[in-house]
Amino acid sequence: MMNKQGRATTGSGGHHMDIETISGDRGLDHEEPLIFELGRAGKCGVDLPDLEIKHDRLGGLRRRGQIGLPGLSEPEVVRHFVRLSRKNYAIDAGLYPLGSCTMKHNPRLNEKMARLPGFADIHPLQPVSTVQGALALIEELAFWLKTLTNMPAVAMSPKAGAHGEQCGLKTIKAAHKARGEKRSVILVPESAHGTNPATAALVGYTVEEVPANERGRVDVEALKAKLGPHVAAVMLTNPNTCGLFENDMRAIADAVHKAGAYFYCDGANFNAIVGKVRPGDLGIDAMHINLHKTFSTPHGGGGPGAGPVVLSAALAPFAPLPLIVHDAGGFRLVEDKADAKARDAKPFGRMCAFHGQMGMFVRALAYMISHGADGLAQVAEDAVLNANYILASLKDVMSAPFGKGPCMHEALFDDTFLKDTGVTTLDIAKALIDEGYHPMTMYFPLVVHGAMLIEPTETESKRSLDEFVAVMRGLVEKAKGNDKSRFQGAPFLAPRRRLDETAAARKPILRWTPPAPKAQAAE
Ligand SMILES: *Cc1c(COP(=O)(O)O)cnc(C)c1O
Repeated sequence: MMNKQGRATTGSGGHHMDIETISGDRGLDHEEPLIFELGRAGKCGVDLPDLEIKHDRLGGLRRRGQIGLPGLSEPEVVRHFVRLSRKNYAIDAGLYPLGSCTMKHNPRLNEKMARLPGFADIHPLQPVSTVQGALALIEELAFWLKTLTNMPAVAMSPKAGAHGEQCGLKTIKAAHKARGEKRSVILVPESAHGTNPATAALVGYTVEEVPANERGRVDVEALKAKLGPHVAAVMLTNPNTCGLFENDMRAIADAVHKAGAYFYCDGANFNAIVGKVRPGDLGIDAMHINLHKTFSTPHGGGGPGAGPVVLSAALAPFAPLPLIVHDAGGFRLVEDKADAKARDAKPFGRMCAFHGQMGMFVRALAYMISHGADGLAQVAEDAVLNANYILASLKDVMSAPFGKGPCMHEALFDDTFLKDTGVTTLDIAKALIDEGYHPMTMYFPLVVHGAMLIEPTETESKRSLDEFVAVMRGLVEKAKGNDKSRFQGAPFLAPRRRLDETAAARKPILRWTPPAPKAQAAE
């Protein structure tokens, strides 16, 4: 059934009372059109004096046509965005079990620190003498990142994990080039996050896959067999995307270095080992750290993130500009290659216009300092404990392909337990939405069939884990009891029902076109 706004209602087999409202809204869940459909050209929310342009200062480049922005009043704008925000699932609304994402609580203390005017109101082009405190903070965060990883250098400017990967591989490329070598291949395990092969391709490498063994770890012999003078680096995630610790890191590092290649570690899952294991001790040459996964800064959805990259002594000279240095005059930024050369540095270039994301740096350092060394180690312990609680509480009714031993920070299940039920991983994920949860990561990693990857994080209480486990066990029982109607067509209670996600991804409609003006109705 469709109501007047074109929203599908549950129809028959509904699991709740099927009321058609006059407004199309459902209680506090308001139907919300696009802001362009709400607005009206010529309407203005503020009172501005008419603009009087005496002479054109833009050399004739002044806009002449309509800009096409919707006109709305302030309350209309506020309502629009508040209504949209209420359709969103957020870490502040409930448990967010996405694996390989680490959706952990963003402490409010971090927010308070980031809003201090000395950090929040500065501009990257301000004279360096006026931002000494900000540069000192970046240096202090860099110090702690280097200390926690036992790595001698860190590039602070990359703005996300994927951007950090790009920075790391460009550093590796520059190091090979300085040795007069041209290597073309990056080895990536088959369980790798999609950004790893994508980054390798972007930086101009070809990707070769390394298989996993039956324990869900990299097959070390297969990896060794693939090494050679054409291999630039191995990219490995540890703990890996099956939620398992790679035990053979030292052996892999030795083999990689013997072959003249570098060892890149995807550090997205550093939250599981921070304060417990130092990647530098494992022989790693470069590793990005997603501040939004390990150090509790908000996930920016591609927005203002930070993915600093720690570097080994071999790669440190090639780190990108700018470099922060401290000399007689205080902190200073090395911004060009000539200045860098005088300091024996050979930067490959730069990753972005300025120095990175100040607000994220403040939040990450606030998180580190408020936890202290013992607190950070406990973060890792609790994250692992909570994931194992999920694994232990569900593995008798779901199927855990590597569930014989403990997991690290996330629990991986496959869809073997759904065999012959007619219910799929996707169905379980959609039914979870009706239960008030964001779905877990599904169909990733690709190494297991119908994967469901659950990462509770350390900030969930036992009570909230028990509630989630009870919901999962209930859904599994319904699936096994052949209650297919509970799943097919789920979610029933969300603002939108099941969407054509493939079409939405492949053929997104990103441009709104105004409807053709209606012809004057005949009398
Ligand atoms: C999240 C993640 C990335 C990408 O990081 P972004 O900050 O989202 O760009 C890369 N690898 C793994 C294993 C991840 O979980």
